[in-house]
Amino acid sequence: MAKYVYDFTEGNKDLKDLLGGKGANLAEMTNLGLPVPPGFTITSEACRHYLAEGAVPDGLEREVAEHLTAMEKRMGKTLGQADDPLLVSVRSGAKFSMPGMMETVLNIGLNDESVHGLAKQAGGNDRFAWDSYRRLIQMFGKTVLDIDGELFEQALESLKGDRQDTDLGAAELQGLVETFKGIVRDQTGKDFPADPREQMRLAVMAVFDSWNAPRAILYRRQERIPADLGTAVNIVAMVFGNVGNDSGTGVAFTRDPGSGQQGIYGDYLQNAQGEDVVAGIRNTIPLQELERLDKSSYDELLRIMETLENHYRDLCDIEFTIERGKLWMLQTRVGKRTAAAAFCIATQLVDQGLITLDEAVTRVTGDQLAQLMFPRFDSGTEKKKIAKGMNASPGAAVGKVVFSSERAVELAGQGEDVILVRRETNPDDLSGMIAARGILTSRGGKTSHAAVVARGMGKTCVCGAEELEVSIGERRFTAPGDIVVNEGDLISIDGTTGEVFLGEVPVVDSAVVEYFEGREPDDDLVRAVDRIMRRADEVRRLGVRANADTPDDAARARRFGGEGIGLCRTEHMFLGERRQLVEDLVLASGDEERQAALDALEPLQKADFVGIFQAMEGQPVTVRLIDPPLHEFLPDLTDLSVKVATGDATDKDRKLLGAVKRLHEQNPMLGLRGVRLGLVIPGLFAMQVRAIAQAAKEVPGAKPEIMIPLVAAVQELEAVREEAAGILADLGVEALIGTMIETPRAALTAGQVAEAAQFFSFGTNDLTQMTWGFSRDDVEAAFFSRYLELGMFGVSPFETLDRDGVGRLVTIAVEEGRAARPDLKLGICGEHGGDPDSVHFCHQAGLDYVSCSPFRIPVARLEAGRAAFAECDSDTR
Ligand code: ADP
Ligand code: MG
Ligand code: MG
Repeated sequence: MAKYVYDFTEGNKDLKDLLGGKGANLAEMTNLGLPVPPGFTITSEACRHYLAEGAVPDGLEREVAEHLTAMEKRMGKTLGQADDPLLVSVRSGAKFSMPGMMETVLNIGLNDESVHGLAKQAGGNDRFAWDSYRRLIQMFGKTVLDIDGELFEQALESLKGDRQDTDLGAAELQGLVETFKGIVRDQTGKDFPADPREQMRLAVMAVFDSWNAPRAILYRRQERIPADLGTAVNIVAMVFGNVGNDSGTGVAFTRDPGSGQQGIYGDYLQNAQGEDVVAGIRNTIPLQELERLDKSSYDELLRIMETLENHYRDLCDIEFTIERGKLWMLQTRVGKRTAAAAFCIATQLVDQGLITLDEAVTRVTGDQLAQLMFPRFDSGTEKKKIAKGMNASPGAAVGKVVFSSERAVELAGQGEDVILVRRETNPDDLSGMIAARGILTSRGGKTSHAAVVARGMGKTCVCGAEELEVSIGERRFTAPGDIVVNEGDLISIDGTTGEVFLGEVPVVDSAVVEYFEGREPDDDLVRAVDRIMRRADEVRRLGVRANADTPDDAARARRFGGEGIGLCRTEHMFLGERRQLVEDLVLASGDEERQAALDALEPLQKADFVGIFQAMEGQPVTVRLIDPPLHEFLPDLTDLSVKVATGDATDKDRKLLGAVKRLHEQNPMLGLRGVRLGLVIPGLFAMQVRAIAQAAKEVPGAKPEIMIPLVAAVQELEAVREEAAGILADLGVEALIGTMIETPRAALTAGQVAEAAQFFSFGTNDLTQMTWGFSRDDVEAAFFSRYLELGMFGVSPFETLDRDGVGRLVTIAVEEGRAARPDLKLGICGEHGGDPDSVHFCHQAGLDYVSCSPFRIPVARLEAGRAAFAECDSDTR
């Protein structure tokens, strides 16, 4: 019989799939003997059932009732009991943390009777009881009854005036409860539900439903969290931080999530409940000051934080509440951190003996490394600093100021870089945060919504820049010294230092890039990167090569740790002044003229190859023979037509116009290109092969590999291979001859193709186009965003290799190719070669190497190392 409910004593941290992160970790803390209020978790399976069927599964209500009764027995009171009510929270919690994206309702069980019981039990503290009651109606109204939260906010604001929420007395709060109940009646036509069990039942379903709230869907897409996981629901006995000044609530990290430094990082708010800390309703105090307010709770909290770090062997973030001097733990999880902190923490934990260096490799990601390679602001230039806030999420961002999410999306859609400026952000700002280059807030700390979400997305964020007066309505902010910044003005924000600058500040390379360029490690971060990269290189089985067409790119690729060139395109060698020669080639009438044009091209090509072979110093270089259709090298049809029409045309122009018309194609990507060119234009490939061979003869140790593009049938390959092999033999040069696998047919007949190929290199850009039938240039702009919205795929197949379709073709080609030729060399040279998930796929598929742009090489090296640990996922959320 299905089990849908787990008491906290039954779960553990490894049951995240079932219990969600929050539930699994509450259970883990319970079992560690930490002070967690009693509670139980309804599984994500129940949620999936509810979302699919529109009704909760059979037996769920009974199981919930049993667990609730057990909890009531333990607590010696029943839910909402009039004279001494048990209150509970109903909290969302999915497998992957989605901060603030789904719903939670606190203080369930209060009504017009039990509110008095609560006050009595708190020693006649009426204020506390009414405060809790108004919070329930507010949260329940917004979340469960779908009432616009602003209505409650406005009623609260107008009651408060200039005062803080803690200044409101019992009578005022009681009045507010009446107002809130009125809002519920107006908006829903019904009374606020007084029955505690009914409150709980409705809240559970609202939490289930919140899985599909628009902002949750958006967040999942951004973070690539699968849409079908559902959320678990946690029912937790309430503890109260809003009883008075000996109570409060807080959040903390076991180390600095920005830098990884050990220490005490957190915020605390006295006489407060739940979200008050992160919502920024009052100014929080640094956690250190709790020592002065409540030494024994503070000491206990530090002990617990140490226990958690040692237990999880990682940075944890926690939520806690103190009720009249008694500490309660309400949440923990392995905390989100910046890219720099991820590297530093991983190596610190190695030094502390908590994890091995191999584990450290699995604790960081290629995406994080890529973030560290972003440029930063040039420290040498004059900057006009206008404020300093908290360095919430690192990076350097420059853009035009906008004050609303809508405007951010709109301007970003027009290709503008924008900085989203808000007093504080809330989950509704998510789309704007995604669209913006950076986020700046005037309120809130490192644990505020803006900070947490920005860090998760790897987006530059400065928060809590309190010197700034932000006026959303007037679309401007002011800074000290009468500085006014209006919407559309340029600013620069530094998420690493927290500084805000007027205007555009130039950016420079990151220290990590300088390290890859050869500088000795000289700070903690670079030392951490160095250690982890060395280990990744030791353990990885995949080679890493570069896509590089010039000696400069080749040299950078080597500095970044490339082990050869996996794709050297030759088409740029036909550009610039050499276009002339291509024109001659196309216009050639007869063998002689054509050969003359080719002969003129040969020494130029040879010189190009010499430069590249020299830069690679004996590492293999895979040269792809010319791939694009020849009309790409000819002048534009319209230009030529105009010239001819206006009588400005030369004789050659007229001939060219004829050629351009003759060579025009409806689908150039599927037309006369690749191996087809080699077969149709006699001498073209031969010229290129001779140039490669001559260059190899001139550079000692050069290791050329000749790659034929766009092959679909082994016959094509055989024809050009024979000619090439003859030329190599004549010149006494050794080189592998192989092919790209970029048409589905080549993949499906790989056993035959391998008879004529010494290596395969998967051209996954073309292979993706042809497998999906997508013309990349057309589909990406036209409808990919719609496809992503519709969930046709979670990420563009041009970004991350589509394992099910394209990946299957790769797997077939690997198996059948190797069966035909056991020493077949296998690589990939599409853009996927630098994408973390695709690198893991290549490892699993058994390829020998990946090839990617020089700048992505470190990312590919790291991910190839991580992939070598079988249990390691391509990302760590
Ligand atoms: P989120 O996932 O958005 O962090 P939570 O479920 O953690 O939402 O709840 C929001 C806030 O309410 C948190 O600060 C949490 O500590 C507080 N809270 C939740 N349950 C209880 C409870 N039983 N007693 C006191 N505070 C609670
Ligand atoms: Mg929480
Ligand atoms: Mg191609």
